[in-house]
Amino acid sequence: MRVLSRLLFLLAVVLYALPAMANQPLFDAHLHYDIDSAGDYAPGEIVAILQANGVKRAVVTSYPPSQALSLYDVAPELVVPFLGVYRTPEDKQAWVRDTRLAARLERMLSDGPWRGVGELHLFAEQRLSPVFLRIVELATRHRLPLLMHCDPAVIDTLFEHSPNAQVIWAHAGTYPYPQLLRDYLDRYHRLYVDLSVRDERIAPDGELDPDWENLLWEYPDRFLIGVDTFRAERWADYGNVAARIRGWLGQLPENVSAQIAYRNALGLFESAP
Ligand SMILES: [Zn+2]
Repeated sequence: MRVLSRLLFLLAVVLYALPAMANQPLFDAHLHYDIDSAGDYAPGEIVAILQANGVKRAVVTSYPPSQALSLYDVAPELVVPFLGVYRTPEDKQAWVRDTRLAARLERMLSDGPWRGVGELHLFAEQRLSPVFLRIVELATRHRLPLLMHCDPAVIDTLFEHSPNAQVIWAHAGTYPYPQLLRDYLDRYHRLYVDLSVRDERIAPDGELDPDWENLLWEYPDRFLIGVDTFRAERWADYGNVAARIRGWLGQLPENVSAQIAYRNALGLFESAP
């Protein structure tokens, strides 16, 4: 009986959501087009995947950074390129000790259509790294959002150091609990939260969790969605992940879901120079 009522509930959700959500444009705020993905998918194929899923705009970062630009070159109206900090997979750990990194990023920022910096991976114990803080200063000076995959303490240090920074907290942070997020959203008005790869927490088995629902209602203008193609295989699964996201978005009031699906990210990048 429980299974049946659950199935009926999900069917009702799908039927209710379908008409409104089918045309709901998405702004994917977290994509990677790394060198290994490029071996499997040409830029035109990536654009086709995004278009087939109703994605109108997309943040794309990559290692090496030139990969994101190869996608931007074929679809500048679609792609919002973020300057990736890593040149190789090893840089994901090593960047924080690379004392020449900030100067290199500064040169690249002055010579490209970059609209943000990241994704940067950082643990709490590394949060006082001078390399990190220089990158924060650099992005803030250029008025570019930073895409941060990090512990909560990193967010505190970042805003203490640069109160005018603009931050997208990838995957709702490393401890994605609504109560903790509420605290951070309340404290830092220039913090946005990207919900990529958290669908199972937000909507276990497809049904929107009440604590998450409350949080999304309370801060409808601070959340972004993303598929996060962290591996080449994620591109093959793009349609499934996008459908899962549309599934829980469709359980929110239409104006809230439209903000989270598209408008918040649009506002974030339109307000930038
Ligand atoms: Zn990522």
